[in-house]
Amino acid sequence: MSQTQEATRTDDATTWTCANCGVRATRMPGFGTGRPSGWTNEKGEISCLLCRRAAAGERGVEAAEPTSGEKMVRIRTASVIEFELNRDADRSNSVIANVCHTSVPTVIKVRNGLGFAAAPAPKKARARSKS
Ligand SMILES: [Zn+2]
Repeated sequence: MSQTQEATRTDDATTWTCANCGVRATRMPGFGTGRPSGWTNEKGEISCLLCRRAAAGERGVEAAEPTSGEKMVRIRTASVIEFELNRDADRSNSVIANVCHTSVPTVIKVRNGLGFAAAPAPKKARARSKS
């Protein structure tokens, strides 16, 4: 067995390959330990965050059985937002909107609809220095 194959099987690994899309992540020595944030290892099958988001959207669409394409897009987006809220609801609405490629009002609507606590207030931009 090669070292790369072994590395994908343990949390001591420094290299991970997504079983779905094949993307590879490598951790540089001295920069933390464990899988990249948002990656999972379920029964030896490693999934990257992008594939997990896509799967969450598809599960939502399959469960809802939408009748139109527009409705399907909205259901998929809401499912991905729900996935991100379950990952970490303490992030701001704008951060979640950015990773879900949607608008802040859409995130707020899903957040409120699912009963998640309101997002923390966004950090104020630093005042411009006078020069
Ligand atoms: Zn992937």
